Formats: sequence, structure tokens, C-alpha cells
Amino acid sequence: MSKGSTSSPGFAAKKRFGQNFLVDKAILSKIVGVAHIANGDRVIEIGPGRGALTKEILATGAEVWAVEIDRDLQAFLTEEFSDTKAFHLVGRDILQASLAEVLEPPFKVIGNLPYNISTAILERLSLERNLFSEAVLMFQREVADRILAVESTSDRGFLSVIARAAFDIEKRFDIGPGAFRPAPKVWSSVLRLVPKPANVFDRPEVRELVSRGFSQRRKMLRNTLSDLVGREPSLDLSRRAESLTLEEWQTLAAVVSSEW
Ligand code: SAM
Repeated sequence: MSKGSTSSPGFAAKKRFGQNFLVDKAILSKIVGVAHIANGDRVIEIGPGRGALTKEILATGAEVWAVEIDRDLQAFLTEEFSDTKAFHLVGRDILQASLAEVLEPPFKVIGNLPYNISTAILERLSLERNLFSEAVLMFQREVADRILAVESTSDRGFLSVIARAAFDIEKRFDIGPGAFRPAPKVWSSVLRLVPKPANVFDRPEVRELVSRGFSQRRKMLRNTLSDLVGREPSLDLSRRAESLTLEEWQTLAAVVSSEW
């Protein structure tokens, strides 16, 4: 079992690592419940912090590989879980580590993500989704709204298209600032993401196309994607990027991925 209390390890939360620690026990167990984590599961936890969520995962009988960048927290976690065989510390930057280097599949991914790099983490996970069966991740609520945004809404952007192409996504619940120490200024949302099979949106040239399409949101696609003019007659390029459905992006993707 783990040692002592994780509530006051004696050093301050670091803003640069997006450290807002969850202290609400009911929410911690709710997150683990959303991931259906059970005895025997293997879980990669992104950003374990002081180990509050980690303890909740370990209590189910699952084994945890916890990826933490902060050296102070690495030392704290090593001590805290020194007697726990099912705990494995991975002292790395998640953006520099391939999940395949952390653990052999299959596994689940869970994390109360550092908000400053949450979209970069999501983009990375989308490209490695063949390795895991599901991910339960916490985002700043505004970012979750952008991830979930459907076509013809103002939140629709590169992130929504890429995330929706890679995963079936459901929002499970919101969490107010009071559940964290220090309390953030914003609300948070927990999303459950189930990987979809590999598809055309995994190709770099297609991601680049979607990114260019949204680079100047007010402009028509025939301006932002001028190289496509005359190459895809079935799609009206006087439309704006945010109005396209995933299927319509797929139509455009087929043009660039076959011709480039
Ligand atoms: N899971 C803990 C909780 O819920 O209380 C902590 C969550 S806190 C929002 C984010 C955690 O991610 C911090 O522990 C932070 O040090 C860690 N972190 C930040 N950037 C990271 C990175 N690039 N790679 C791995 N961990 C990172």
C-alpha cells in the first residue's frame, strides 16, 4: 500500500507544469469509474502529480505506469509508492515519450492533463491510438468544447476535426475549480475517448490541409486551400472551414492524399 498522505508533500505547485491537484475524493473515484478500470488492467497515467488519482486506480487492482516530468514529484512518488509493486514511475516528458516506449499494448490511458499542453498531448495520442483501448482525460472545459465541436459552430477547428476523426468521444462530466488545489480559474471536463481505426486523417499531408483550412477562419476555402481549386468539383470551396462535416473533410483529404 502507499504511504502517508499526499495532501502536503511540502513543496509548492508549479505553474509551468500546469499543476492543479485534485483533492475531491468523490471525483477521483468517478474518473476511475468512467474508465471502467478493473483488477488486472494496465494503465498509463499522464501526470500523476502527488498520486491522488494513482491511488484510486491502484485500489481497483490495476497496474499503473505513471509518466511524470517534475523531478520533485518523481522523488515524492517513488517514496510514496515504494512498497507498491503495481506502481511504476516513468520519469519523462510525455511529449517526448512514445507510449510504445512506456508500455507494451494493450493498456488504458488516464490523466488529469496539464492544461498548457493538453492539446499537444491529445494530438499525440491520436497518432498512437492503436496502442490503447480507451482514454479518460481531463481538459479545461473550453478546450473540451473545442474538441467536441460539431460543424457550423464557432468552436469548430483543427482540434475538433482531428479528434473526431481519431476517436468516438463523449463528455462525461464537468468539475468546478473547488475540486483542485490550487483552484484553477476555469472549469474542467472529463472526456472518454475510444480509438477509431486508422484513417486518412492520420496522414501528415491531410492534417496539414485541415490546419491550413482553419488558418484564417473567416476566409473561404478557395483562398486558404487555393491549390485545391479545380481539383474537387463535388465540394463548394466558397464555404468556410468550420462548415465542413467530417465526411466533407474526408472528400478533400482524398484529393491531397492521392495526388501529393
Ligand atoms: N494527476 C494529478 C491530480 O489529479 O492531482 C496531477 C494533475 S496536474 C493537472 C498535471 C500533472 O502533469 C502534474 O503533476 C505535472 O507535473 C505533470 N506534467 C506536466 N507536464 C508534463 C509532461 N510534459 N510530461 C509528464 N507530466 C507532466
